[in-house]
Amino acid sequence: MHAESTPPDWIPEGGGPEFATRMVGGVPRPSPAGPAPAPPRAVDVPALIDGIKAGDRVALARGITLIESRAQVHRAAAERLLNALMPLSGNAWRVGITGAPGAGKSTFIDTLGSSLCDSGRRVAVLSVDPSSPISHGSILGDKTRMENLSRRPSAFIRPSPSGGEVGGVARRTRETITLCEAAGFEIVLVETVGVGQSEVLVREMVDCFLLLMIAGAGDELQGIKKGIVELADILAVNKADGENRIRVESTRLEFERALHYFSISDEAWHPPVLACSSLSSEGVREVWAEVERFVRHANATGQFIERRHSQSLAWLSALLEQGLHEAFAAKREVIALRRELELEVVTGNVSAPYAARRLLEAAGLIMENNKPQ
Ligand code: GDP
Repeated sequence: MHAESTPPDWIPEGGGPEFATRMVGGVPRPSPAGPAPAPPRAVDVPALIDGIKAGDRVALARGITLIESRAQVHRAAAERLLNALMPLSGNAWRVGITGAPGAGKSTFIDTLGSSLCDSGRRVAVLSVDPSSPISHGSILGDKTRMENLSRRPSAFIRPSPSGGEVGGVARRTRETITLCEAAGFEIVLVETVGVGQSEVLVREMVDCFLLLMIAGAGDELQGIKKGIVELADILAVNKADGENRIRVESTRLEFERALHYFSISDEAWHPPVLACSSLSSEGVREVWAEVERFVRHANATGQFIERRHSQSLAWLSALLEQGLHEAFAAKREVIALRRELELEVVTGNVSAPYAARRLLEAAGLIMENNKPQ
């Protein structure tokens, strides 16, 4: 197909003739072996925008699928969708919830989310699943999760695609938050497994970060050594029911004491440690009351807006990084040269810094003005 017949994917609103509104035909290339892939279905972006603005969950789900699409042809549509919805976003509270597998995150979110829906709030739940790209397994699990919440008309639950790389999942989560906010969800809960990688990314995209723990699971398992505690604004020890209550209370006190030894970034906010039971729902409201208190505090100190700014900047740098990676990996000459240089680096013929510079030059990312004499 000749490019001349292809309309441009995107023209800015009110864009005049100064914009390249015609695609220039390129040199026809022989197609690689095999039949051409079927063209992805066209997306009705205006209908999606209207649906999402109206709070329609089906349109929201479709919009998220568009954003998650890796097809090049969907990118322009996804960008148009995001641009149109961006002005409507930003009004929700973004709350991250992390904890070791089995800590009770989904049970907690089910209980908390249902209670928030009861009080008239619209709640979206997104999960960031750092599943292994090798095993394609899902840490968050395939079990039926959040059964009560999933039945509420004012709730929206979206699991992350499993098997993806953590950075990519996190990128799409940011965009998904934007869409949920534009759809009128007032509370966005972002769930992630505390295994040391995804929670750092999630912490960068939420206003308040909650760490869910259990009694006697050991510091190592709960990520204490990995510094998750230092990221948390609120901590809660879950499963405070039945005979477990006493153990939960002693774990709670231990954490309260231990927190004094952690470096706290905000002098005026000492992360509270609570006990709750997601099964009986005892204490869950109190945990939410702390979230509300934290948001009030962060608003009063200006920290809320500061965090929002750093969330946006973190989003931008994640996109830039990804774009650079993709642009780099897409260049044929770079791919070939990389293979060659990798061999040279392995055999010790050239140094890694030299090889890296050669590759960046070949990709046109740095100027060739630094040649060794
Ligand atoms: P996640 O992996 O962190 O999402 O944990 P789940 O929510 O799937 O819970 C793991 C297990 O702990 C399940 O069998 C839950 O029923 C149980 N569980 C979760 N919350 C509580 C609680 O508050 N009390 C008790 N006794 N069990 C709980």
